[in-house]
Amino acid sequence: MTRIGILALQGDVVEHERALARVGAETVRVRRADELDTVDGLVIPGGESTTIDKLLRIFALFDPLKARLDDGLPVLGTCAGMIMLATDIIGAIDGQRSLGAIPMTVRRNAFGRQVDSSEAELTWLPDGSTMHATFIRAPWVEECAAEVEVLAVDESHGSHPVAVRYRHAIATSFHPEISRDDRVHALLVDAATAR
Ligand code: GLN
Repeated sequence: MTRIGILALQGDVVEHERALARVGAETVRVRRADELDTVDGLVIPGGESTTIDKLLRIFALFDPLKARLDDGLPVLGTCAGMIMLATDIIGAIDGQRSLGAIPMTVRRNAFGRQVDSSEAELTWLPDGSTMHATFIRAPWVEECAAEVEVLAVDESHGSHPVAVRYRHAIATSFHPEISRDDRVHALLVDAATAR
């Protein structure tokens, strides 16, 4: 069975466990480098990217995680997890680092302070279907390299990409784990199973 780790330093872990179980993956919570070694794929959940960055360093996970991502570990980053996967961050705090798995610039808290949380019906570009999305103090993709595949854009705020894929890495501005629509998690599990 494909084994997907969920980075469990901070953020919403349980919802990802449930989504991954629904698409047939085994899950394990990752807090240590030896746990990271055992997984075929990884979820970096939503939460607070500045805190996740700090905790990755405190738990001595930043470098081992970056090395596994550089080596092609399939990964899904949602919301704060999307910020962690970017090469560049607009609105970062001083010294905030990211893992650089996707050549893109993300804007933190992009939807504006007044819109802490919102919902939208997105077009899922791979097949033109509709995807219900929940945004919570979400980032969006300000710009990305031409090789980055855009999976969904937010049509109501200037058509910024809100779901992207690059090689083995998928990132969403929204929280697929709370909408009970498991297509994004299935993409991760497919990539991890194929590897
Ligand atoms: N605003 C948060 C950050 O910058 C992300 C919010 C979320 O993950 N729901 O990390």
